[in-house]
Amino acid sequence: MKKIDFLIYSFIITENLLTLYLFCMNKKLISFVVPAYREEKNIPLFYDEFKKTFVNLQEKYDYELIFVNDWSPDKTWEEILKLCKIDENVKGINLSRNFWKEIALSAWVENAAWDAVVTTDADWQRPMHIIKTFILNWEDWNEIVYWVRKQMNRNFFRKMLSGIFNKLMTKISEVEFESWVTDFMLIDRKVVNYFTKYCDKNRIFRWIILSLGFSKQKVYFVEPPRKHWSTQWQISKLFKLATDSVTSFSIFPLKFIWYLWIFIVFFSFWLLTFMTISRFFMGNPYWITNSAFFIISNVFLSGITLSWLWIIALYIAKIHSEVLWRPLYIVDKKVNFKE
Ligand code: UDP
Ligand code: MG
Repeated sequence: MKKIDFLIYSFIITENLLTLYLFCMNKKLISFVVPAYREEKNIPLFYDEFKKTFVNLQEKYDYELIFVNDWSPDKTWEEILKLCKIDENVKGINLSRNFWKEIALSAWVENAAWDAVVTTDADWQRPMHIIKTFILNWEDWNEIVYWVRKQMNRNFFRKMLSGIFNKLMTKISEVEFESWVTDFMLIDRKVVNYFTKYCDKNRIFRWIILSLGFSKQKVYFVEPPRKHWSTQWQISKLFKLATDSVTSFSIFPLKFIWYLWIFIVFFSFWLLTFMTISRFFMGNPYWITNSAFFIISNVFLSGITLSWLWIIALYIAKIHSEVLWRPLYIVDKKVNFKE
C-alpha cells in the first residue's frame, strides 16, 4: 500500500470513529424515577423488566434509574443498594421519613441532568414496554406523554368515587381532571424546569404537570394487577389526596359561602317583609306568631354573618393563591439563549 493510500484510509477510519464517538456522546439521557415504599420484592423484578425493555433503546438513549425509597420499613433500601453496586446508572435516594408518593416523586429533581424524565411505580402496574411508545411520542414533539388506564383494577366504590370527584374538580377548577390518568408519564426537560418552580407543599404530581400546558399526548393501556403486596393507599391517604386536589386547584369551597349567603339573606328578607305586611297591615290572616318573627330574624342575621365570612374568605383566597408561589407566566420557547 502506498504511503498516500495509507494516509487516506487512516483518515477515513479516524473520521468514522469520531462520528461514531460523537453519535454516542449525543445520546439523549432519560431519567426514570421510581418512588418505592415496601417494595423489597418488586425492586429486583422491576429492574430486570426495565433492563429487558431498555436493551432495544440503548443505541439512541442513555438511562439513569433513580429509586426514591420513601422510608420503607422492609428491605427496599437494601435492594436498591444492591442494584446500585452492580449498575452505576442506578441511583438511590433515601428519604428521612415517609413523605408519601407525591412528595417522593419530586425528590429527584435536584442535581439531575436529563433530557426527559419518566415517572413510574415499582409494583409492575406500569408496563415497561410502554416506554417505547412514550419515547416515540416525545420525539414527535410532545412535551408530556402520559398513560391513561383503559380500565381500572379498583373496586366499584373507589372507581365511582374517583369518577364523580374528577368530574366535579374539572367543573370547579381550571384544570381538566381526566378520569383514569396516572403519574406514569414522560416529561420533557423544559416542562420539568417549570415544575421545579412549584413550591406547593401538599402537591399532586400529575395534576401539577398536566396543568402546565405544553403539547400533551395520551397513551391508553390496560393496567395489570399489582405484583406483590397490596396497594399502599388507605382511605385516609386518598382523602388527603382529594382535599389537596381541591385546595390546590380550586377556591370554589370558599366561594360557596357567597351562594349560601345570597340564598339565606334574600329568602329571609322577603319572608320578613311578607310576614310584617300580613300581620300588621292585613289583619294577620296566616296566624303569624312572635316566635316566627324571632326565628326568621335570626336566619336573616345569620345571613349577614355569612356575608362577612364571605368577604373574609375572599381575602383568604387571595392569600392562598399568593403563598403557593406559583410562577406568574410560563414561556414555551426562548431563542438565542445560552442554556
Ligand atoms: N409509594 C411511596 N410512598 C407511599 C406509598 C406508595 O413511595 O407512602 C409508592 C409505591 O412504592 C409505588 C407507588 O408509590 O411504587 C404507587 O403505590 P401503590 O401501588 O400502592 O398505589 P396505586 O397503584 O394504588 O396508585
Ligand atoms: Mg400500584
